[in-house]
Amino acid sequence: MSNDVMRSGSCLCGGVQFRVAGEPLRVGLCHCKDCRKTSGSAYQAFAIWPREAFECEGITSTYGGRSFCPTCGSRLPSVREDEAEVMIGSLDVVPTEGLEPSYELWIGRREQWLHPLPEARQFEHDRTVAESAADDGEPEAGREPYRKSA
Ligand SMILES: [Zn+2]
Ligand SMILES: [Zn+2]
Repeated sequence: MSNDVMRSGSCLCGGVQFRVAGEPLRVGLCHCKDCRKTSGSAYQAFAIWPREAFECEGITSTYGGRSFCPTCGSRLPSVREDEAEVMIGSLDVVPTEGLEPSYELWIGRREQWLHPLPEARQFEHDRTVAESAADDGEPEAGREPYRKSA
């Protein structure tokens, strides 16, 4: 992967540093309850890389599959068996390049003053296998495990 573009990220205090190699599998926005609560913001913007493209140094804590820095509380990438979900706001170079969301989740919870991204697919809830089949042809394991909300 030496020719791949590398992106670095970190928490606010710098205790945790991570890197992702190459382009993400997909980029999205989520307005679900869990994303709102854990970020404290109105929605979360994230990009998902294959697990093997991700490396991290530092001590992290995890709650409900979502990781954060135990010192400063910053959200950090959620690492699953096959994928790593990176909050776009934790990346070091701003504004990011080439990380435009192609879908939005839980749009019923979107703030009234936000508008749908014109190019982004809109999902009422989580992205499902059937709904995402036409998306990009990537093999899909199923619902995204950390996008559950009511
Ligand atoms: Zn920190
Ligand atoms: Zn969410």
